[in-house]
Amino acid sequence: MPFDNTYARLPHHFYQKIAPTPVAAPQLIRLNTPLAQTLELDLPETDQALAALFSGNTLLDGMEPLAQAYAGHQFGHFVPQLGDGRALLLGEAVTGEGHRFDIQLKGSGRTRFSRGGDGRSPLGPVIREYVVSEAMHALGIPTTRALAMVTTGETVHRETPLPGAVMTRVASSFLRVGTFEYFAARNNVDALRQLAEYAIQRHYPEAAEADNPYAAFFEAVCAAQAKLVAQWMCVGFIHGVMNTDNTTISGETIDFGPCAFMDSYNPAQVFSSIDQQGRYAFNQQPLVVQWNMGCLGGCLVPLLSQDETEANAIGEQILGTLTPRFAEQYRKGLCAKVGLHTATDSDFALTRELLSLMHQDHVDFTVAFRTLCDCEDRADSFTSLFDAREAIAAWVEEWRSRLKAQGNNKAERRHAMRAVNPAFIPRNHRIEEAIRAAEDTGDFALTHRLIEILSNPFADQPENSAYQEPPQPSQRVHQTFC
Ligand code: AMP
Ligand code: MG
Ligand code: MG
Repeated sequence: MPFDNTYARLPHHFYQKIAPTPVAAPQLIRLNTPLAQTLELDLPETDQALAALFSGNTLLDGMEPLAQAYAGHQFGHFVPQLGDGRALLLGEAVTGEGHRFDIQLKGSGRTRFSRGGDGRSPLGPVIREYVVSEAMHALGIPTTRALAMVTTGETVHRETPLPGAVMTRVASSFLRVGTFEYFAARNNVDALRQLAEYAIQRHYPEAAEADNPYAAFFEAVCAAQAKLVAQWMCVGFIHGVMNTDNTTISGETIDFGPCAFMDSYNPAQVFSSIDQQGRYAFNQQPLVVQWNMGCLGGCLVPLLSQDETEANAIGEQILGTLTPRFAEQYRKGLCAKVGLHTATDSDFALTRELLSLMHQDHVDFTVAFRTLCDCEDRADSFTSLFDAREAIAAWVEEWRSRLKAQGNNKAERRHAMRAVNPAFIPRNHRIEEAIRAAEDTGDFALTHRLIEILSNPFADQPENSAYQEPPQPSQRVHQTFC
C-alpha cells in the first residue's frame, strides 16, 4: 500500500472530501527528487505526467484528496472557521521504515473553506515557499518540505494578473493549533479527544504512556515549539505570520507567506506588509509562541482533568515551562554560534553584547557570525564589519580569553562554529530576483540556482560567493507580502 490515509478515516466533520480543480496547461518547474526518494513514491517518468500529477489534474492510486477543517487566531483575533481554502491533503505516504508523511497540494482550487478566495496561488509565493522551506530543511530546522512546483497555464488575479502555480508540500502532518481550536470553538469534546489521540499517536506516542497523556502531549508540543523558535532566532528568521493556524502540532515550520531572514541585525525587525503593529517582529516570536500555546492549552482544558480548576492549573503549569525551555535552547544555540559551548550565563551575556554591537552598527547577522568562525587568531575581517572599532576589538579580546578558558582545540572549535553558522541563507533580494525572472520571462534558472546553493548552506561555495553578500541599498527588500 503506497498510501495509508488515516485522516480520511476520521469523522466527516474533520474535513471535506473534494477533488482538485483541474488546471489548463500544467508544466513542471521542479521536482525534489531526493525527497521523492525519501518518501518512496512511485512517480511517473515524464515531465508531462509529473506536471499533471503535481497540479492535481491526475492522482496516484490510493490518494484520497480532502480539505482539512481548522480555525485560528489571526493577529490575535479568533476566526472560528478557516480550513484548507486552497489546499488539499492528497494522502499519507508511509515509508518502509514506517515514517508517515502528509502530501498536500497548495493552489489546487476552491473548497468548502475558501470563503471569498479563488483557491489558487500565484507563482511568486510558490517559488518563495519552495526556496525557503528547502533552505530551512538544509539548515537543520524542522519544516514542511517542498516536493514539487508546477505552473498552471492559468492567470491568477490579485492586484495585478499573475501566473498561477501549484505547490506540493510534505509534512509529518498538517495538524495545527487551529485544528484543535476548530473543535474547541464548537464545544465538541469528543472530537477534541479524538483529535488529541490522533496527534499523540502520530507525533508523541510516548505521551500515551504518561499518567496524564493529554498533559504530556501539551508539554511535548510546547517543547517542540520552544525549540523551533529558538532555532529560527539563531539564523535570523522572522516567520511573519505566527497565527495559530500557522503553528503546527509537530513543531515544524509552516506557511512561508511574508517570512524573511534578516540581513542587518535588528531585534525589532518586521518585514510583513500586513503586520502593522509588529506583533510578529523578530524579538516578539518567543512571546507569540507562548501565546499560541496558551490557545492550545485552552482547547485541551476539558481533556486535562474532569475538574476544570485542576485542568486550568495543569495547563498553566505546563505553559509556564515554555519560556524557560526557549531561553535554554536560545542560550545554547547563540553561544554555540560564537564557539562557547559551555554556554554559561557570562558566555551568554558576552554573546548578547555582540548582538547589541551588531544592532548599533547595522551589521549583517549571517556575515558576522560566519566571518567570526575564522577569526580566533586574526580578527581584522570581523572587526572591519563594525563602525565601533574599539568596542568590537575589546569584545574580541574578551571572547578569545573565554575561548582559552574553555580549553578545547581551535580546529575543532572552528569546525563546530562553521556547522552552526551558515554561509548561505535565502536572502530576500535573491528570492525577489528569482521570482521576477520567473514571472517576467518564464525563466527559472535563477530559481534552480538559488535552491541548489541553499541546499548546502554550511559549505564554502567560492563560485557562489555573491549569494553570501547582503543586499546593496538599491536591492534591499523592505516589505514582504502574503
Ligand atoms: P494563510 O494566510 O495562508 O495562512 O491562509 C489563511 C486562510 O485563508 C486559510 O484558511 C487559507 O486556506 C485561506 N486562503 C488564503 N488564500 C486563499 C485563496 N486564494 N483562496 C481560498 N482560500 C485562501
Ligand atoms: Mg496558513
Ligand atoms: Mg499563507
